[in-house]
Amino acid sequence: GRKFFVGGNWKCNGTTEEVKKIVTTLNEAQVPGEDIVEVVVSPPFVFLPVVKSLLRSDFHVAAQNCWVRKGGAFTGEVSAEMLVNLGIPWVILGHSERRQLLNESNEFVGDKVAYALAQGLKVIACIGETLEQREAGSTMAVVAEQTKAIAAKISNWDNVVLAYEPVWAIGTGKVATPAQAQEVHAELRKWIESNVSAEVASSVRIIYGGSVNGGNCNELAAKGDVDGFLVGGASLKPEFIDIIKSAT
Ligand code: 13P
Repeated sequence: GRKFFVGGNWKCNGTTEEVKKIVTTLNEAQVPGEDIVEVVVSPPFVFLPVVKSLLRSDFHVAAQNCWVRKGGAFTGEVSAEMLVNLGIPWVILGHSERRQLLNESNEFVGDKVAYALAQGLKVIACIGETLEQREAGSTMAVVAEQTKAIAAKISNWDNVVLAYEPVWAIGTGKVATPAQAQEVHAELRKWIESNVSAEVASSVRIIYGGSVNGGNCNELAAKGDVDGFLVGGASLKPEFIDIIKSAT
């Protein structure tokens, strides 16, 4: 079985005080054990050390990005090696905000995923269509193309979680219906079966992101191909704990 996965993407939010407060709330929460649910929170780079040092040991941390290759003369970037050096186990790559606002291409994201995996990081790789693309009926073509660019660069999917995050659902309060999420997840799994392998298709976790909250998580989690969530706004609030509990 695929272990339920709940990621909290804090995006570009927080002060030291706020971050410590969130960690305290998480540390005090009663949630299912690590055998049932894998919980990963992703603060901005600058807060990674403090969060890692204070966070309960059954939860883990992720960076929100890293550089595509070995470090060096790349002002403003943070390398995969640095994350490994700090003991950060996970990294989010290809988030739609970076694809859209910073022009990260499918190929660039594929290269980043491959490089991060090669350094020993685990990767939450994000894909998802815009509203325009959905309305044009090209949702599957878009997510297949994004997944293909990753599949072309990697051979081992053990340390990859695929996050399906429709752009129109991110930060809009307009969550995908459970049926919409299930449909794309199932199609994606089929695509992986045909283009990678049946083994990877059955083992890779496909999580949903986009306006997930304490009120809609249970219905979404009930869908067979929804293996967890990547949560934005609600991951900064106590309801993140309810989302973690949707694993059971
Ligand atoms: P929201 O949950 O705020 O819609 O953000 C989702 C997201 O982008 C997680 O990576």
